[in-house]
Amino acid sequence: MNQMQALTHVSRPELGNTIPVSVFRIFRQFSAHYGEDILGEKGVRSVFTYAGRELGMDIGQQLYTEDLSEYLMRVKQYVFDSSIGILTLAEDLSTDDKMVLQLGECVTCSGMPNIGQKICFFEVGLVAGIVETYTKKEVFAYETKCNANGDDCCEVTVELDPVKMYFN
Ligand SMILES: [Zn+2]
Repeated sequence: MNQMQALTHVSRPELGNTIPVSVFRIFRQFSAHYGEDILGEKGVRSVFTYAGRELGMDIGQQLYTEDLSEYLMRVKQYVFDSSIGILTLAEDLSTDDKMVLQLGECVTCSGMPNIGQKICFFEVGLVAGIVETYTKKEVFAYETKCNANGDDCCEVTVELDPVKMYFN
């Protein structure tokens, strides 16, 4: 049994299998703030993003299929079933070189007041890992919108050809 599988074994007869979203956010933001004290802002962002990417690659491998639209459908379903959010590909903003994915009802930021910061680094990595598993190439992903930054959704942009992006 790997660590991921071990985590899914829950025995809480009285308290059940779910926690309030606010508790998840508190655990997460406290970890982020503590990490920031030790590693600095960039350091903690990298840790969260790369941790998310590892998980994204793991999820991607579980859901993998050659058919891209089927793969995306499985990912959407997984993200929904796990209550992470409601994932949609913003087709009007996506091109051959980049994918723009929006996460409605984002577990981390949806409904948060504007604190002037994008905070969903873990989700950025998660999306990057899921895309990389399919493309088998490294991508460059970043958060372009976040509820905590006063935007109307959480949005991750994935540059599929980072090298080309730097030279444009
Ligand atoms: Zn966000």
